[in-house]
Amino acid sequence: MKEFDVVVIGAGPGGYVSAIRAAQLGLKTACVDKWVDAKGKPSLGGTCLNVGCIPSKALLDSSHHYHNLQHLLPDHGIDCGTVKVDLGKMMERKDKVVQNLTRGVSGLLRKNKIEFFSGTARFTGNNDVEITDQGGDKETIRGANIVIAAGSVPIDIGVAPVDGDRIVDNEDALAFDAVPARLGIIGAGVIGLELGSVWSRLGSEVVILEAMDQFLGAADGAIAKEAGKLFKRQGLDIRLGCRVTGARPTDNGVAVKYEDSDGAHGLEVDKLIVAVGRRAYADLLDVEAAGVSLDDRGRVVVDGYCRTTQPHIYAIGDVTTGPMLAHKASEEGIAVAEMIAGQSGHIDHSIVPWVIYTHPEIAWVGKTATELEAEGIEYSTGAFPFMAIGRAQGAGETDGLVRVYACARTDRLLGVHIIGSHASELIAEAVAVMAFHGSAEDMGRTIHAHPTLSEALHEAALAAGTGAIHI
Ligand code: FAD
Ligand code: AMP
Repeated sequence: MKEFDVVVIGAGPGGYVSAIRAAQLGLKTACVDKWVDAKGKPSLGGTCLNVGCIPSKALLDSSHHYHNLQHLLPDHGIDCGTVKVDLGKMMERKDKVVQNLTRGVSGLLRKNKIEFFSGTARFTGNNDVEITDQGGDKETIRGANIVIAAGSVPIDIGVAPVDGDRIVDNEDALAFDAVPARLGIIGAGVIGLELGSVWSRLGSEVVILEAMDQFLGAADGAIAKEAGKLFKRQGLDIRLGCRVTGARPTDNGVAVKYEDSDGAHGLEVDKLIVAVGRRAYADLLDVEAAGVSLDDRGRVVVDGYCRTTQPHIYAIGDVTTGPMLAHKASEEGIAVAEMIAGQSGHIDHSIVPWVIYTHPEIAWVGKTATELEAEGIEYSTGAFPFMAIGRAQGAGETDGLVRVYACARTDRLLGVHIIGSHASELIAEAVAVMAFHGSAEDMGRTIHAHPTLSEALHEAALAAGTGAIHI
C-alpha cells in the first residue's frame, strides 16, 4: 500500500492549495479528486474552476463588455453601431479559460511532485482512503495525516426538481445555448444575482424570487439598500418575500408557483435557475469509518484550527463551517499544511473578504453596522460616494459608495463596505489594513494615488475621523 505524510481529498481551491503547501514544506503528499470533464479526463480545481468562480466571472466580464458597448460607450462619444452577441463563441471562450486553469492546476501538482489519484475517495479506516477510479478499479492509500476538502453541491429544494434542461442549477446556467427570453431565478443570494446579471445583460427578462423579506441580509444595510435601488434601475425584477412552492416543465417553458403575503401566484418562464445555496458534500466519504463527526447540516465538525474530531484529520473549505468562498478554503488549506509540518498555521476568519460580482460590484470585510450594534460596540462611521471621485466621473462609473466603521474608542478599523466599480479589487486594501489591526486614521494618512477609485476609501476613512476633504 502506498503511504503518504498527507492525503488530501478534493482538488478544489482548498485541496490543491493545501497539497501544494504541504509538498513545499517537504511532506510526501497525495491528492485525490473525482471531477472529470465531458471527455472523462480529470479536471482539477473543483467547483471554483469548473462551474463556479471562474466560468461565472468569465461570463460576467463578457456580458459586461456587451452592456457597456450599448450603454456606456455612447456617452464616451463612441458609436459602435449595432452590436451582436455570438453566444457560442462567448461560451467557447469561457470553456477555454476554464481549461487553461484546470490544466494549470495539474501542472502545479506535477511540479510539486504531488501524486494525483483520479477517482472517488472514501475512508476505510482511521488512516486509510480507498479510491475507486472511473473504471471501477480500487486502490487503498494510507495517510499519516488526511485533509478533507470535498467541497459542496447545490441544495435541492424538492419543490423545483432540476432536470438540467428547463429547470437548472448553477452548472447548467453557465452553459445555456440560447439567451432565454424569460428567465426565473429562485434565490437572490450571490449566485442568483451574478447569474441574473449575466443573462439580463445578454437580453433576458429576469425575475428573481427570494423567500426572505430582506435583500442581501449578510451585507451592510446601507450597501444592500443602494444595491436594491441600482439593480432595479438595471431592470432586474427582484421579488422579496416570495417563497417558491412548486415548479414544473411545460410545453413552452416552466410553470412556477410561489407565495407571498398576498397569497399564491404563478409565473411562466422559459428557464428557471435554482440558486438557493449550497450544502457541504461529505456524502461519499464514509467519515464514520475514520471516527470523524458531521453536524446536523452534514458539515464536517472542526475547531478553530480546522481539526476534526480525529487529531490527524483536518477539514477545510465548503465541506465544513464558515463562508463558502474559494479564498477562505485556500487560506485554511495553507494553514492546515503548515500545522501538519509543525508550524503555527494562522487563520484569521474575522477578515475574510466577501465579493459579489454584479455591476457595480459589492465587497466588504469585517463587521456590518447591524453586527456592531448587536454586539454593543460603539463605532464611528465614514461614508463617501463615488460620484465625488474624479476618476469615477472620468470613467462614467459614479454609482455607489464606501462606508467605513471604526471603534469609537481606539479608532481600530472594524468594517469596510463598498458598492462600486472595481470593489473586488479595492477591498484588498481594507483587508490588509485590518490584518495589521490598523485604524481609520492609518488608512486616512496613507497616500492614495490620484486620480483613482481608491480615493473613495481614503476619503471614507478621513470622514470617520477629522472629515473628508471633497464633500
Ligand atoms: P470545491 O471547489 O467544491 O472542491 C471539492 C472537490 O472535491 C471537487 O473537485 C469534488 O469533485 C471533490 N470531491 C468531493 N468528494 C470527493 C470524493 N469522495 N472523492 C474524490 N473527490 C471528491 N467563491 C468565491 O470565493 N468567489 C467567487 O466568485 C465565487 N463564485 C462562485 C460562483 C458559482 C456559480 C458557484 C457555484 C460558487 C462560487 N464560489 C465563489 C464558491 C466557491 O466555488 C467555493 O467556495 C469553493 O470552490 C470551495 O472550495 P473547496 O476546495 O472547499 O471545494
Ligand atoms: P445563497 O445561500 O446566498 O446562495 O442564497 C440562497 C437564497 O435562496 C437565500 O436568500 C434563500 O432565502 C433563498 N431561498 C431558499 N429557498 C427558497 C424558496 N423556496 N423560494 C425562494 N427563495 C428561496
